[in-house]
Amino acid sequence: MKNIQMVDLKGQYQKIKDVVDASIAQVLDTTAYINGPQVHQFQKNLETYLGVKHVIPCANGTDALQIAMMGLDLKPGDEVITADFTFAATVEVIALLQLTPVLVDVDPNSFNIDVEAIKKAITPKTKAIVPVHLFGYCANMEAIMEIAEAHNLYVIEDNAQAIGATYTFSDGRKAQAGTIGHVASTSFFPSKNLGCYGDGGAIFTNDDALAHRLRGIVNHGMYERYHHDVVGVNSRLDSIQAAVLDAKLPHLDTYNQARRNAARAYNAAFKDHKNITIPSGIDTCKGICDTCDCHVFHQYTLKLKGVDRDALVKHLNENGIPCGVYYPIPLHLQKAYKDARYKEEDFPVTNQLVKEVISLPMHTELDADQIEFITATVINFINSNS
Ligand SMILES: *Cc1c(COP(=O)(O)O)cnc(C)c1O
Repeated sequence: MKNIQMVDLKGQYQKIKDVVDASIAQVLDTTAYINGPQVHQFQKNLETYLGVKHVIPCANGTDALQIAMMGLDLKPGDEVITADFTFAATVEVIALLQLTPVLVDVDPNSFNIDVEAIKKAITPKTKAIVPVHLFGYCANMEAIMEIAEAHNLYVIEDNAQAIGATYTFSDGRKAQAGTIGHVASTSFFPSKNLGCYGDGGAIFTNDDALAHRLRGIVNHGMYERYHHDVVGVNSRLDSIQAAVLDAKLPHLDTYNQARRNAARAYNAAFKDHKNITIPSGIDTCKGICDTCDCHVFHQYTLKLKGVDRDALVKHLNENGIPCGVYYPIPLHLQKAYKDARYKEEDFPVTNQLVKEVISLPMHTELDADQIEFITATVINFINSNS
């Protein structure tokens, strides 16, 4: 059996090495390292893939979120509602822009922002909602867009973990994650579902005027050379990363399918175990049917009951199985983001999830032997220790 990795970037690279190497070599040949033709080409190809009018490439997913917010007319002190259970980048940029983050609880089944909690958190100062499509599954965008419309709020999708996922509305209409809100951000960090070989990110929007503002903001607020109309940043996707991404984009659907296949194999082994909740209970289709592409399993995350999670993590690691706890501390308890307004009883789900979750190896190269070994090791440990 091959060594098990949390993410197998090398195995994935080896299968497309010729194309990737040739794409990178082309950048080296032309020396257009910044804003080379590869960046524009990738931008166009991603717009087509997503079915969105504008993709604005930038340096990383955190910048993408920040720039997306800079493009909206938000003022210091405006409140922005986001999920308590996510990677810190989401809340970090809100705070950095001197907006007021308002963290709310999540749904125990989807792990995504809780719609009722959003409604409760709205005040006259609320200006935006940032749903995070956590672990590769789209938040309840239909309900979120309805709330936003009723209260005149912006919706900024943090799509760092769900590129290629599809969202299905109640009338059957489908849309790509990241194309439903007013603006969305994504990350091309190497371990993301569409990862480059360094840092990268992008912003998506269907709004022409917003796209124009964003294209200036990523480039020092310049719309005309050496004319600085707004305060911007320097945030570029470099040509080598764009070349890698353009070589990988045609494989994204296959990659996401491989992740779903791995998730299905995991689910089959775990679904009837009394101490384990598999990542289902997901509203519409449970995310793992053959024809469904609603879940892209950036992470495969179980909930454990009556299991010593730390001991399981240690046991897995001792058996050559890496695993992760995403995320071990709710954001409202992080030193940087504590706020007197938060009450523990407002976060029953995140406070519970941080104790229960464990994420198993998930990537495009997992094979049946590896999954068999991982599931058997998890189940044997739980059966003999609980
Ligand atoms: C990875 C990630 C980010 C940040 O992306 P970077 O490219 O690492 O800056 C933001 N939000 C979420 C939910 C992420 O998973």
